Amino acid sequence: MDDPAVTAILVAACVVVGLVIGSFLNVVIWRVPRGESVVHPPSACPRCGRAIRARDNVPVVSWILLRGQCRDCGNPISARYPLVEAGTGALFGLTAWFAGPSWILPALLYLAAIGVALALIDLDTHRLPDAIVLPSYGVALALLALASWNPTGEADWASFVRCLAGGAILFAVYFALVVVYPAGMGFGDVKLAGVVGLYLGWYGWGALFIGGFAAFLLGGLFSVILLVLGRAGRKSGIPFGPWLLLGGAVGIAVGEQVWQAYVGVF
Ligand SMILES: [Zn+2]
Repeated sequence: MDDPAVTAILVAACVVVGLVIGSFLNVVIWRVPRGESVVHPPSACPRCGRAIRARDNVPVVSWILLRGQCRDCGNPISARYPLVEAGTGALFGLTAWFAGPSWILPALLYLAAIGVALALIDLDTHRLPDAIVLPSYGVALALLALASWNPTGEADWASFVRCLAGGAILFAVYFALVVVYPAGMGFGDVKLAGVVGLYLGWYGWGALFIGGFAAFLLGGLFSVILLVLGRAGRKSGIPFGPWLLLGGAVGIAVGEQVWQAYVGVF
């Protein structure tokens, strides 16, 4: 299973899939906060209204060939579109490299995809739409159950029990924080914390603790830097969703190792 050639092919395939998913996420990021359908109507230029042709819809490449302009009217197309595509491709590749050919990979790719969409929507609108977060409980639970079942190896149902507990614990912690200090976060953060907790719990108690802690550490550091640079007042309300997701990624990637090292000191 740990054949480097297999991993290389897997990473390359996931980069390509990530580029295509990233293209779809651009639609999600724009339309979901506006309550619009993500499948209909097809994408069109916001100025001239001409539908985007299939050959102009190739991730990253089309934007470069069109030099960032609409083929029909020359209206500039934001560089954010190819950046989201390239970023999602890179994140999918990194995820495949981290997980290798394993049954946890689909669950992690799903988290990566909603993570990109939710982080950018939160930065844009300071909201984490229920339309993405709530169905993610079902999808994440199904994919994490698949990973625990591990059809080609030995099942590990203890990880699934931890997953359920992790989701409940992180939801409860955030719920308590919002009740105690409503100005800091919103219920969108509470609902997303439950989803991130499912993943962290699946990885282990150390991952859950480190991942939950990292979100506050990273978000807090960023707020302090903004205050020092004079870029934000105390009330400028920094969205917490991106930090929650980033903390989750840290917990998944190194949480267990950091926790073991920390416990080992004592
Ligand atoms: Zn146009």
